[in-house]
Amino acid sequence: MTAHVQVKDDFLLAPLLGKQRAAFLREGPPSAAQRRADLLKLKRGLLARRPVFEAALSKDFGYRSAYETRIMEIIPVIQAVNYLRRNVSKWMRPERRRVALHFLPASARVIYQPLGVVGIVSPWNYPLSLAIMPLLWAIAAGNRVMLKPSELTPATTDVLKAMLRDIFPEEQVGVVTGGPEIGAAFSRLPFDHLVFTGSTNVGRMVMKEAAENLVPVTLELGGKSPALIGPDADLETAAASVAYGKLANAGQTCIAPDYVLVPEKDAAAFVASYDATALELYPDGAADRNYSAILDTAHHARLRGLLEDAEKKGARVLEIGSGDRANPHKLPASVVLNVTDDMAIMQQEIFGPVLPVMTYRTLDEAIAYINRKSHPLALYYFGNSDKDRRKVLTRTHSGNVTINDTLMHYVQNDIPFGGVGMAGMGAYHGIEGFKSLSHAKGVFTQSRWNLGGLLRPPFNRTTDWVIRYLLR
Ligand code: NAD
Repeated sequence: MTAHVQVKDDFLLAPLLGKQRAAFLREGPPSAAQRRADLLKLKRGLLARRPVFEAALSKDFGYRSAYETRIMEIIPVIQAVNYLRRNVSKWMRPERRRVALHFLPASARVIYQPLGVVGIVSPWNYPLSLAIMPLLWAIAAGNRVMLKPSELTPATTDVLKAMLRDIFPEEQVGVVTGGPEIGAAFSRLPFDHLVFTGSTNVGRMVMKEAAENLVPVTLELGGKSPALIGPDADLETAAASVAYGKLANAGQTCIAPDYVLVPEKDAAAFVASYDATALELYPDGAADRNYSAILDTAHHARLRGLLEDAEKKGARVLEIGSGDRANPHKLPASVVLNVTDDMAIMQQEIFGPVLPVMTYRTLDEAIAYINRKSHPLALYYFGNSDKDRRKVLTRTHSGNVTINDTLMHYVQNDIPFGGVGMAGMGAYHGIEGFKSLSHAKGVFTQSRWNLGGLLRPPFNRTTDWVIRYLLR
């Protein structure tokens, strides 16, 4: 991105917001039919450009298999469109609410009104789906959208921008490009809501910037998501699921299992199974045509640094499969043993194909370990005992949980997706996403016949009687 374009985009931010807000006020909330039609246009636009997106993603990453993009980015978006189109009319209906006996026959209801203009800031790791998914929920809720995708995936952004320009007028959906400076200027705009997906550090800045205008934020952040292998887990299934969740997109997934907690007695068997499955998934190791590259040299160097730091402090790094001489962007999968908390690998989100293996003796000890760290975005539990599952669910906090698999909660459209604590606030997906991008306006309609006069001056004995009744 050149400085010239950034300055130009910065200059255009406020006018674009002004245009969208004027159009929103002029045209009012879109009908259910309009929203469904807009969602369908997006679905068709995406399907028509599927190969172009797959190629752009691969270019941005220095290699990513078309299958991975199709399965991890395009299918979730298409499924979400279908889900939203099925549900949006029902969600838009006003909800009748109760009024207390002494207010009858008046009535109360909640109407879900679009907020107006929603800002969306998205990250590089799934640059298509993490830009489009919040957009889908914003459209379903009847909003207009300004989107700022990551500057680190310019080829994908070009296709995204061209697609959205073809489908929507700029006053309905506009794309702004640029890096952190534009991101900061963008987050200072007086949006009606801001959805940010990215790192916890930048999320903190975004919230500060949005606070200037009291703009409510949804923060979809990161963190260290544990995979807890329960005492009665099927080790092979658990290792296979963790390998799949860890190695998809070469670990560059916000909800990837970051590290694993495994009973001491099962550690060797777990590592052997993990190793075997990783090679089943990617027989050619890092050179495998289904194995993604690390986005850029800076991220590659950061991951190498984490491994070196761990080794220096006494960890054992086991590489799985061979490297890829032809593509220096690829980093082989690895397992890290003898891990301790003073290693950087246990202090920051890994975001790569590296799996630290921690061991524990009792489930309580494992739960206490998770609770000593900040709340993770996702938690994975493997095991079949109801008692243990209940314990883990009630005694740990995390954005979401998948039991006996990894990643899969993300593609359940009917449950909210979001973080808690340092992993974020608010959620989208499900009806929760619709509600968080709508204003739930409570409306009370007074009846011509009502008892309100009894509590207004001049007070008399009847007032005393009514007060006694209400204070009973
Ligand atoms: P990032 O925080 O570096 O950048 C995200 C976006 O913020 C980019 O568009 C960037 O240009 C913009 N930005 C940068 N500085 C800004 C500022 N000062 N003000 C406003 N915007 C600014 O994140 P990333 O490296 O692109 O993505 C990786 C991180 O995102 C990881 O921590 C990962 O866990 C997290 N993530 C979370 C989710 C989720 O759904 N919770 C999904 C994917 C990624």
